[in-house]
Amino acid sequence: MSGIYIHIPFCKQACSYCDFYFLTRQQLRQPFVDSLVEEIFTYRNTKYSHAPVKSIYMGGGTPSLLTRQQLRQIFDAVHNVFVLEPVEVTMELNPDDVTVDYLRMIREFGVDRASMGVQSFHEEILNFMHRAHSRDEAISALEALHQAGFPSFTADLIYGNPGQSNGMLKKDIELLLEFDPPHISAYSLTVEPDTRLGKQVKLGRIQPPEDEDVAEQFDLVASTLSEYGIEQYEVSNFAKPGKEAVHNSNYWKHENYLGFGPSAHSFWWDGEGAKRWKNRSDLKFYLERDFIGMREDQEDLDLKTLAEERLMLGLRTKWGVELGELKKRYGYELNPAQLEWINYQTKSGLIDKSSSSVKMTHEGLRISDLLIVDLLSKG
Ligand code: SF4
Repeated sequence: MSGIYIHIPFCKQACSYCDFYFLTRQQLRQPFVDSLVEEIFTYRNTKYSHAPVKSIYMGGGTPSLLTRQQLRQIFDAVHNVFVLEPVEVTMELNPDDVTVDYLRMIREFGVDRASMGVQSFHEEILNFMHRAHSRDEAISALEALHQAGFPSFTADLIYGNPGQSNGMLKKDIELLLEFDPPHISAYSLTVEPDTRLGKQVKLGRIQPPEDEDVAEQFDLVASTLSEYGIEQYEVSNFAKPGKEAVHNSNYWKHENYLGFGPSAHSFWWDGEGAKRWKNRSDLKFYLERDFIGMREDQEDLDLKTLAEERLMLGLRTKWGVELGELKKRYGYELNPAQLEWINYQTKSGLIDKSSSSVKMTHEGLRISDLLIVDLLSKG
């Protein structure tokens, strides 16, 4: 089985913190869709096209800039080339694009999960982020999901913004909860050097909040959501039981996936070995349709690398990692130094180890990145 990721590299405007690959000029949208269809067709009758596709994720960029005709072209191509048995088809939507009619239209293509980029309901925070939508548009978009009877959705929130008090964050979470979200992704604001935010921080015009304050906001998110039965299942992801994201969870489990569009990543592991590659982040090149020449960062991954990745990704989730799976699939066993370290962290209450699995406790998940680096350094 496999997953498909489709990257739509267009946005109305550049959010100040964003380092995804996108363009704000829209003229090339149709030529891009034509190239995308051709890239999808390069997989026809290959070993990749025979594995049943269990999840499709259309991200970006801003997929909700696509018209019905463009979506039809893309989904027709996917249907033509792949065997589809999807259990989840997600599309990222920006609130300013969403209407009940648009939501009904994307249902026609099988999209059953909307990923809504809310981020905040505070105008001053939205302005600081340079988001294209307003508070009212975010509210209308969430209402539209209910009016359209959309099957499922997730909403993104960003905390740790300069000037964002805990009270403001709490109001954001509570307002979002009024829409009964099955799933929420909450990210702390990250300062990437090549973004507008990164440059302003470098010039000293913006002072990001202290780590302790950000950690406090994370706790506020986790505890408020937990009161509503929305539990953390990964470092940045929270869901009602059974509503965890299928597509992203499969990344963490090393399920195969193919990425289409500039900057998209792919991973494929079969009897011929495990490979990862990325499409260049370059629309101009993409339009030339040399899809093999487009690939960069191609890697052949050995079992040890894969096992360490599995440990790293698994330990960021509430499920942790099954030791039997590590041995069977990756031929990997924890060494005595790692086991000793795990026993120590178990006594400290950060790790929960049984005879068959190892996972982080709630406390451990808060500092999982540090703990994972420590564990892997003993490998
Ligand atoms: S809409 Fe999303 S992809 Fe586009 S600039 Fe903003 S954060 Fe980045």
